[in-house]
Amino acid sequence: MSRTSIRSVAVEPLNIPLLEPFTIATGSVAAANNVLVTLTLADGSAGYGECAPFSPSTGETQETALAAARGCAALVEGKDAAHWRVLSKRMRSVYFSQSTAIAGMEMALLDALTRSYAMPLSIFFGGASSEIETDYSIPMVTPEHGYELAKAAAARGITCLKVKVGGDIREDVARVEAIREGAPGLGLTLDANQGYTASEALLCLEALDDRDIRPLMMEQPVHKEDYEGLRYVTQHTGIPIAADESAYSAANVAHLISMGACNVVNIKLMKCGFVEALDIAAVCRATHTQLMIGAMMESRLATSAAAHFVAGLGGFRYIDLDTPMLLADDPFKGGYEQRGGVYDVSGVVSGLGIERR
Ligand SMILES: [Mg+2]
Repeated sequence: MSRTSIRSVAVEPLNIPLLEPFTIATGSVAAANNVLVTLTLADGSAGYGECAPFSPSTGETQETALAAARGCAALVEGKDAAHWRVLSKRMRSVYFSQSTAIAGMEMALLDALTRSYAMPLSIFFGGASSEIETDYSIPMVTPEHGYELAKAAAARGITCLKVKVGGDIREDVARVEAIREGAPGLGLTLDANQGYTASEALLCLEALDDRDIRPLMMEQPVHKEDYEGLRYVTQHTGIPIAADESAYSAANVAHLISMGACNVVNIKLMKCGFVEALDIAAVCRATHTQLMIGAMMESRLATSAAAHFVAGLGGFRYIDLDTPMLLADDPFKGGYEQRGGVYDVSGVVSGLGIERR
């Protein structure tokens, strides 16, 4: 038995209320109903993983993620965590459609392994940088509330806001306008979460352009399976268009890019896990497609994992890892130090550096 053999895996619910309900084009949530994985190695090194199912995006619920994570645990117990790619393949061969369970298990494996190796996870992934800067998301709220949220975000040192759109175009434009007024100097990105048709997305961008508002980027204007619609939007605007829900594997991202369907790809660990995310990032780099990292409703645990991944790999143009700021409390500490929107991972000694409160 190796010192990095997996001694035990515990899987339990992780429920965290939000400060206020978060509404996007595909649904609304009032709490993060996630799953916590705790994986312990033979040498005593413990690693944490988080599964963050968001049904409208991943088709999973807390119940299915709990069951799938327990199934994955049975597949890796007693095996050597050092062979993490082999273990990932083994889990994926059965639970390939339970992507948040795969992500949470891979997170716990890599956290435990890099703790055992006394190496920060960001260094394990390449050590490209030690700081990243996240945006801050404003959900589908009234213009008045959007104005207040934007002002408050600017006051806490945020430099880029992401606005949820994809509903009624007039309301969407009014929200974006109010947010621009509340925080005039800040960068703006839009996320339609599949809510528009291709022509509605272009109408929205034109209406904003008429008001002198040119977002840095728009995410997922159309339904995730509407690749032609996504391409149409991309080819008819100068605003960069990102694939989010449409992009979930290296092969599917290669197809989107070869179609000319997007300028940016939003990688989320919860959509594909770490092993697949590395391949997606490689496809994007090879084709000069801009990289984005995003998240589901994740605590400091999964957010730290994404921060270490992005800091380690480098080259991510858009960073949307703000969800710990949307939670009413967080059961974890460590992982990174936050100043405004900047997450600094340089203080982490090994693994993710996450501890339970
Ligand atoms: Mg998105």
